[in-house]
Amino acid sequence: MNQTVPPTRRFSPLLFAVIMIALLVALVCIYLGLNEYLLGDSSTASLYMSTGIVTLAVSTYMMYQTRKRMIRLIGMEMQPLSSTVQCMKCGFKNIREFKRGDFVFKETEEMCPKDNLKMTISAIYREVKDKEKAKENAY
Ligand SMILES: [Zn+2]
Repeated sequence: MNQTVPPTRRFSPLLFAVIMIALLVALVCIYLGLNEYLLGDSSTASLYMSTGIVTLAVSTYMMYQTRKRMIRLIGMEMQPLSSTVQCMKCGFKNIREFKRGDFVFKETEEMCPKDNLKMTISAIYREVKDKEKAKENAY
């Protein structure tokens, strides 16, 4: 009777599946309840309806809890990445959102507007939306 399973604090796809199934069951119950109600069987209807509403409430609550946890995780790890795309000939730079498969020195499909050459990724960085750097007075 001694369990040594560590508490899992991560978002699990299994939990997500359970919530989705519960939501589906809730919707089906409510639908069946409405159906029974229309057919005139109000006792079966209220049974279906109450089951549906309770299931809906529980799954919504679980989803809300999971969502809060996910937002916390995403907030820490998912700051947007940016890629600097540069023309190797004239040095024209364009900063855009990171795309899957981007890497430094990769030739992109983007063309330099000045001399119609394919541009190359010169930098990838995580955008930190903090305060701007104070202006440096060079002279
Ligand atoms: Zn160019």
